[in-house]
Amino acid sequence: MKKEPSFPFPFDEYIKDAETFHGFAAPGLLVGGFMVNKAIRHFPAGVLYEALCETSKCLPDAIQLLTPCTIGNGRLRIVSLGRFALSLFNKDTGSGVRVFPDPIKLDPWLELKAWYMKLKTKHEQDLNLLFSQIKQAGEEILKQQPIQIKPEVYRKISRGPMALCPVCMETYPAATGIPCLACQGESPYVAWADICLEIKIKAKC
Ligand code: ZN
Repeated sequence: MKKEPSFPFPFDEYIKDAETFHGFAAPGLLVGGFMVNKAIRHFPAGVLYEALCETSKCLPDAIQLLTPCTIGNGRLRIVSLGRFALSLFNKDTGSGVRVFPDPIKLDPWLELKAWYMKLKTKHEQDLNLLFSQIKQAGEEILKQQPIQIKPEVYRKISRGPMALCPVCMETYPAATGIPCLACQGESPYVAWADICLEIKIKAKC
């Protein structure tokens, strides 16, 4: 069972957890920590909530570190809109809150704003200043709004029965058609025959 977040937000402890889980304490993960911390207060203890993240970068790991919602347990959805925003919502009703950094509230925090708006290259960033501004600003830079998730997004729909793909001979949800999605052309892998051909061509050069 994943631990529930503790209050007040243990920022220094969170930095250590972020380094272990994410590989390093990325600025997005640190800002994300404050975002989760703010959103979570909307829910009384005992209410089961789920999460939606509007970017696949950094922010999902803040949710996975600080809440019981993970990709694997199905309680965290990523809808890649490219916006640095997250929502927590009641799993039964779909109502909840959305939290995101407000660009106007970032104005007094020059290094933080430069990072958020990508005004500086990584090389030009002053990481110590950035981290101290993230910590000092905390939730001050965040905006919160009520949201209602569409029923077709928050309701869990069963995948239905499984079938055996006649091409790859692996199992897959029958509802996606025949053959499986990978064999319909959705596979992310280069075909093995193409790899062999490339190796042969290179060997002849
Ligand atoms: Zn297949």
